[in-house]
Amino acid sequence: MIICSRCVLPQTFPGISFDQNGVCNYCSHTQMPGEDEKQDYLKRFESLLAEKKSNRDFDVILAYSGGKDSTYTLYLLRKHYDLKVLSLVFDNGFISDQAKYNINQMTDTLGATNIIVKPPFDLMQKAFHIAAQKEFYSPKTLDRASSICTTCIGMVKGIILKTALALEIPLVAFGWSPGQAPLSSAIMQTNPRLQRITHRTIRDPLLSLVGKELQPYFLHDVDLSIEKSRWPINIHPLAFFEYDEGLILDTIKKLGWVKPDDTDPNSTNCLLNALANYLHRKRFDFHPYAWEIAGIVRSGCMHREEGIEKVSQDEDMQMVGYAAKLLNIAID
Ligand SMILES: [Zn+2]
Repeated sequence: MIICSRCVLPQTFPGISFDQNGVCNYCSHTQMPGEDEKQDYLKRFESLLAEKKSNRDFDVILAYSGGKDSTYTLYLLRKHYDLKVLSLVFDNGFISDQAKYNINQMTDTLGATNIIVKPPFDLMQKAFHIAAQKEFYSPKTLDRASSICTTCIGMVKGIILKTALALEIPLVAFGWSPGQAPLSSAIMQTNPRLQRITHRTIRDPLLSLVGKELQPYFLHDVDLSIEKSRWPINIHPLAFFEYDEGLILDTIKKLGWVKPDDTDPNSTNCLLNALANYLHRKRFDFHPYAWEIAGIVRSGCMHREEGIEKVSQDEDMQMVGYAAKLLNIAID
């Protein structure tokens, strides 16, 4: 298997080609943001906070999973910026016990109000079963994440935007790592036009295949006419803060966060991840985290060797089997 000599993308990754030095076209076409650019974003971010901080109940709503990146984001929002944080946990039915412990512990310690949105388990079973078996997301989407993760994240983004609009919370935060989302989207005004695209690519296929029971987790079409000034701004601060996995783990462990040993190496919170990865690799022959980890390696925040190890490690078949049984998916 040929792997890019700079990142971790393999020859099986869609649209890839390599130059004479073995560097992939994604690496050669990506200009990594320099320190200056990150500093600019940090300044923009801080003036945004000054503008949005107010007497409202909450300054920001955070998509919280109990994993390391969103925990560190919670820490930054509370401890560096003293924001009033509403954290929202989307319980997809597969949150590990250790992650649940971390969610309680961290929201208590850091002083966030936490709400848990938990759809009925059979609805999530049905949604994930269909996401795993039917092909309805665009190939581009599936270059970046598995169909199971795409389904879950789609619902998270839907319910969090809905909640922000309903409670008039001006900022929506995510703990995306630098590889998951580029710096250019680190501060982004939400708007009906982009939302319409999400509806077409994520919401509508899910509603038609899984059922109208999923509608409560997404905006309605009529919500798209909500006055422009009320739409929140999405932020993902880890794009312009220093992203060092060692530093992140050290910081949050000191606060009482415990690294789960009940999940697979690429997820610190979800028991479904191993199956999602397994199915994706079987279907496409590359790891669904390859794009993200390639981005982190390119940004210099992870050694290439470590990245390669993360995307070539086989899944724990016991965990794959556990999730497959619950979703009624045959594994050979
Ligand atoms: Zn590359």
